Amino acid sequence: MEGFRNEMKMEFLAISSNEGFARVAVGAFVSELDPTVDELADIKTAVSEAVTNCIIHGYEQKEGNIWIQCSILGKMVEISVTDTGKGIKDIALAREPLFTTKPELERSGMGFAFMEAFMDEVEVVSEPWKGTCVTMRKVIGESRMA
Ligand code: ATP
Ligand code: MG
Repeated sequence: MEGFRNEMKMEFLAISSNEGFARVAVGAFVSELDPTVDELADIKTAVSEAVTNCIIHGYEQKEGNIWIQCSILGKMVEISVTDTGKGIKDIALAREPLFTTKPELERSGMGFAFMEAFMDEVEVVSEPWKGTCVTMRKVIGESRMA
């Protein structure tokens, strides 16, 4: 299993009905690592948060595409969620719990905090008006060894 490698890419419209599709598709892809129910829920929630951010913030609910790349390397899952929307001006500030630029939409500013809590690593690369790429990594099976 150590050297096992798999990869998938997908592209879909940035509309909210695709949030469920994205989380189920990534969940199905990682299921061959035999994650626990909790691990699978963590990955799906993190994917949902990243995809919702592309739709609400990146494209501000206007037309756009979202790309997901998902790799499995041994027991490690790496998921990148990319948009070509408005980008993030101050990434460190955006990642702070409770920070939101859309309080009027009743966002709570917890999306990045959830991604960080549920995944082992979260990297954010973003440039104003070029877009945002969030890369998340998680090793499956860590909790069972603890
Ligand atoms: P919640 O996720 O709790 O509904 P939120 O989306 O505002 O609220 P986060 O997901 O933590 O909170 O994101 C924090 C902020 O980072 C957002 O308010 C937005 O300004 C910015 N942001 C996040 N993702 C993107 C993105 N893909 N494109 C542009 N801005 C983003
Ligand atoms: Mg969010």
